[in-house]
Amino acid sequence: MSPLHPLIIVGAGPAGYTAGLYAARGGLEALLIGLPGGTGIATDWVENYPALPEGISGFDLVDRMRQQAEAAGLHVEMAEVSRISLIGNAFSLETGAGPFTASAVIVATGAFPALLGVPGEVEFRGKGVSYCATCDGPLFRGKRLLVVGGGDSAVQEALFLAKLASQVTLVHRRDKLRATQCLQDLAFLTHNISIAWNSILLRIEGTNHVQSVVLKDVNSGQERSLEIDGVFLYVGLRPNSSLLSGLVNLDPIGAILTDEQMTTSVPGLFAAGDVRSTSLRQYITACADGAVAAISAIHFLQRHGSRK
Ligand code: NAP
Repeated sequence: MSPLHPLIIVGAGPAGYTAGLYAARGGLEALLIGLPGGTGIATDWVENYPALPEGISGFDLVDRMRQQAEAAGLHVEMAEVSRISLIGNAFSLETGAGPFTASAVIVATGAFPALLGVPGEVEFRGKGVSYCATCDGPLFRGKRLLVVGGGDSAVQEALFLAKLASQVTLVHRRDKLRATQCLQDLAFLTHNISIAWNSILLRIEGTNHVQSVVLKDVNSGQERSLEIDGVFLYVGLRPNSSLLSGLVNLDPIGAILTDEQMTTSVPGLFAAGDVRSTSLRQYITACADGAVAAISAIHFLQRHGSRK
C-alpha cells in the first residue's frame, strides 16, 4: 500500500502549479503528479497575463510557475494519472509511476482541442492536420494554411501561423468572430490572413498528405475547393476529465462541476482550471482557481484531521 499523502494535485499546468504553490506555502506536504504539455505550454505568446507587459511564451510562463512552486516546497512526480477512485475515505490514483493514495485531490488536468469530425481529419492527422500551431507551424514555412474556428484559439494561432505561412485562410461558420476584439483587429490588419465568413469545412483531401479542402458557404450552399498544405483546427476545448469517470458530477461537455470554492460533488475532491465547468478559460483564471482550490483543500484537511 502506498503512503497516504495529505494532498495530491493532478496536472502540470497553470492551475496545478498555482495550487501547488499555495498548498506548499500553506504548510502542506503537497505532491503534484503530471506530465508537461497541454494548451498552457502550447501557446506561442501570452500578452494578457498581468504584470508582464512585454509578453511571455506559454512554455516559459508555465515553467516559471513550476520553479516558483518547487522553490516553495512542492514535490513533483512526472507521470500520467489514468484513474482516480475513492476507496473508503481516501483517493486512490493509478499512475504511470505506480499507485498513490491521498486524503484530498485537486484535479487540474486542463482540456484538449475538440475534433471537428470531418472526412480527412483523422486520416491526415500528422500529415497536414494539426491542433497545435506552436508545435507544427514551423513545418509549414511559406505554405498555404487553413485555420478553422472563430474563437481566441483560432485567431491567436492564425496570427502566429501568418508569420510563417505565405497565406492563412481563417474559416468561420458565422459573419462575426467570437475572439477578443484586440485579436480580431490584429487579424484584420494582417496582410496574409483572409477570412472565409459564413463557411464550414466539409472535407480534407489529398493522397499522402493534405492537398486541398472543400468549403461550403452556409448561406448559398455553394461548395468550393481550395488548394491548401495544412489545416489547423480550433473549434473549442474538451475537458480532460475521463480519469474521474463515474466519480464526480460533470456538465454536458464533461467539465467538472464545482462551486466557487472549487469543491466538487465528492468531499475532498477539488477541481481547478480548464477542466472545470467555467465561462472563461485563461491563464489568469486557471491560476485563480488553483489558489482557491489549495486553500479549500487545506481547510478540508484541517476539518478532517488528516493534515500532515
Ligand atoms: P471557443 O471559444 O469555444 O471557440 C470555438 C470556435 O469554434 C467558435 O468560434 C465556434 O463558432 C467554432 N466552432 C465550434 N464548433 C464548430 C463546428 N462544428 N464547426 C465550425 N466551427 C465551430 O474555443 P477556443 O477558441 O479554443 O477557446 C477556448 C477558451 O480558451 C476560451 O475561454 C478562450 O477565451 C480561451 N483562450 C484564450 C486565449 C487568449 O486569451 N489569448 C487564447 C486561446 C484560448 P461560434 O463562434 O459560431 O460558436
